[in-house]
This record gives sequence, C-alpha cells and structure tokens, in this order.
Amino acid sequence: MTEHASTRSSQRLDDFLRARPSLGRRASSFILVLENVIKVPLFKCQRCGECVLSRTAFVCSQRCPKRLRNGACGGTRPGGFCEVYPERRCIWNAIYSRARALGRLAFLAQITPAHQWDLERTAAWLNLVRGRIERPHLGVSRNVSERDRKVAERAGREIR
Ligand code: SF4
Repeated sequence: MTEHASTRSSQRLDDFLRARPSLGRRASSFILVLENVIKVPLFKCQRCGECVLSRTAFVCSQRCPKRLRNGACGGTRPGGFCEVYPERRCIWNAIYSRARALGRLAFLAQITPAHQWDLERTAAWLNLVRGRIERPHLGVSRNVSERDRKVAERAGREIR
C-alpha cells in the first residue's frame, strides 16, 4: 500500500486547486520550471510528475525506454546493456548497482504501483504537497536494512 502525503492541509490545498484548474495548471507549470532546473541535470528527470527516485536509489527509472517502474524487464543484454538500445547501459542495471552500494536493495523488492499517467508533465513537488503521490522514502530503517540483507542474500544465491 502506498503512503500518500495526505494531511488535512494538503487535502485543503488539493480541493482548492481542483476547484480552480487554471490556477492549478499555472502553479504546476511554474514549479515544473524549478524542477527542470534542479532535477533534470541531477537525475535526468523525465518529468513523470510522480517521483519514485527514493525507491530506485535516486536513479530515475523513467529513463528506461519501456518506462518501467518495476524492472528490469528480463531482456537486459549480457554485460548489463539495454534490450532496446544495445549501446546503452540498462538503467535497471544501474539502479541495482546503486541500490546495492547505498543499502537500498529492499526498496527494489517492493512493488511500485502503476503510474498515474494523468500526472505526466506536471510538477511532482506540487503533487507531493497536494497529497496526490506517495512520500519519498528517504531513510533506511532497521527493518528495511534487515530486509535489504535478506534480499541481497537471496539475489546472491540466485546469481550463483
Ligand atoms: S519525477 Fe519521475 S521522471 Fe522525474 S526524477 Fe522523479 S521518477 Fe524520474
């Protein structure tokens, strides 16, 4: 189950902007400009409007040509290259390596919900404040670390 950032104030803001769609669109466009300045150079953000960076070790999964939010697809080529663009490294391979280095493998074992396509090209930060998308998972709790260890162990066994 996803944990959306829904509080009374975010619900009020969401209701307010839903009742004023043109203001909501303008606010979203303005904040999207800020996101473009920060998240595009840092993460090569694809502007999906529903950020899942914290689930994918801060590597944007939306750079995958299949736009998978749960990867890899199964078609990854030997050496960790993309099935669609063989000259590119599979982004899920990069996500796995980074998650392993950061101790965040357990997040990859959780299913990320299907993308809300109506949020494409809207501001993820505003969607977060409006409670339309889940909160980022910034810390790694002891439970997650324990799960992480188990996932790594299982992956190790499966790879051998
Ligand atoms: S908002 Fe979507 S496209 Fe942008 S970095 Fe986050 S996951 Fe990637």
